Amino acid sequence: MCLDANCLFCKIIKGEIPSYTVFENDDVKAFLDISQVNEGHVLMIPKKHLVNILDYSDGDAQKYLQYIPKIAKAIMKAYPEYDGLNVTTNNGESAGQVVMHSHIHFIPRKTGDGLNVISRDNSKNYDEASYTAVMNKIKDQL
Ligand code: AMP
Ligand code: ZN
Repeated sequence: MCLDANCLFCKIIKGEIPSYTVFENDDVKAFLDISQVNEGHVLMIPKKHLVNILDYSDGDAQKYLQYIPKIAKAIMKAYPEYDGLNVTTNNGESAGQVVMHSHIHFIPRKTGDGLNVISRDNSKNYDEASYTAVMNKIKDQL
């Protein structure tokens, strides 16, 4: 395991800081987010100090992100009253990342819960040409 002595989530992995762990194996740990944006809010972290998604190799992604559906399904089974789930990750300060150890948020949702995770409609500023330009700009990097 490649951990950082000064990192909050590495300390959680080592058990130096307690967590309400819902799932753990050699690759990942999933535990309750203390903020509980909605009840059942879980964080999943790799057991390797990766800063965020931009730090992942393809191999890291296969190894660590494969557990996303498993955790997602467990939350929805545990809380049948929810009918939706946001799986999100903030990458970088400008994107709202506060803890600099990669983590995936699982936030269960129900209609009318009033949460506004990301909502901004800029579609009036785009036409076919500008959508295509954006598409190609990203495509060229893949
Ligand atoms: P982010 O803003 O995406 O970096 O999210 C960091 C998340 O970590 C926040 O939702 C916090 O509530 C959560 N958090 C911070 N400290 C702890 C902790 N000791 N145990 C569980 N969750 C934590
Ligand atoms: Zn860490």
